[in-house]
Amino acid sequence: AKRRGLSQHEDYRPGLESATAERYRLAMALRDALGRGEIHIALQPQVELASGRLTGAEALARWTLPSGETVPPGIFIPLAEATGLIVTLGEQVLRQACRAVVQLVGAGLTNLRVAVNVSTLQFAREGLLQDFLRILREEGVTPRQIEIEITESLAMQDIGTVQQRLQAFRDQGFEIAIDDFGTGFSSLSYLRRLPIDRLKIDQAFVAEIGTVDDENAIAEMVIRIAQRMGMTVIAEGVETPTQAAWLQARGCQDGQGYHFARPLALEDLLQWQATRNPG
Ligand code: C2E
Ligand code: CA
Ligand code: CA
Ligand code: CA
Repeated sequence: AKRRGLSQHEDYRPGLESATAERYRLAMALRDALGRGEIHIALQPQVELASGRLTGAEALARWTLPSGETVPPGIFIPLAEATGLIVTLGEQVLRQACRAVVQLVGAGLTNLRVAVNVSTLQFAREGLLQDFLRILREEGVTPRQIEIEITESLAMQDIGTVQQRLQAFRDQGFEIAIDDFGTGFSSLSYLRRLPIDRLKIDQAFVAEIGTVDDENAIAEMVIRIAQRMGMTVIAEGVETPTQAAWLQARGCQDGQGYHFARPLALEDLLQWQATRNPG
């Protein structure tokens, strides 16, 4: 079944045989890595801009080969999506996110939420919610402690189905965020129909802050849209104090980015938290 998934998405293009073979090898390696539990997560802190308080973290998948080399998510996530392996990958990421929640709570960091990315193919699967609830139950975590990040392109597909599925997640207590918000500005009407808790400003728009382009800043528009619709906003890719201050001044609640911390191993996150809030 896994092989069929791969070949289904493969276009034959003369001259690209070796690239295709390479991709196939990597897909098999990913399947094996998932089988051996070698995909792990890094956690990137999310911080309340006004107070600096840690509000949560985003779980980001990481793949380290036995050689110590890493494969970038920009390579293996699209591959996982094209081959259907994203379903297994997503479950493993969620399970690790749950374990991180348990450890963070154990370390006295209550009221935190860990966000996981859910791709279109996962979301299209019937039974995703049941799978998620089972994993949470097994790990002793409640839906309130998990946030689901879906992309704008997913949100704009077959609105009726998306609305129903999201509502079912929401009813269980999961928070829903729209990731990379602003990158697909074709229609905003879907926002009104979907049960969404927060918008995540794409890092491309955060990068524009403080440049000549910022007069018509999309980041500012996103903050206004969120305010109008009763949603909160988090900015991703916050790299400078100027960006953090700009965002906060305009009403953006939370931030995530290198200015605060890179994606970290759980122990490093606990260390980071301990050293910035001594006592
Ligand atoms: P994303 O969801 O938009 O995640 C944010 C990306 O920005 C991450 O890249 C993160 O490391 C990076 N980043 C964080 N802070 C900064 C910053 O201040 N500046 C800059 N320039 N970059 C920053 P990463 O970890 O390489 O992940 C790439 C993408 O892969 C993610 O983009 C997400 O779409 C996808 N991905 C990662 N893990 C998963 C997963 O478990 N499931 C799914 N479906 N997708 C995942
Ligand atoms: Ca994300
Ligand atoms: Ca994002
Ligand atoms: Ca992004």
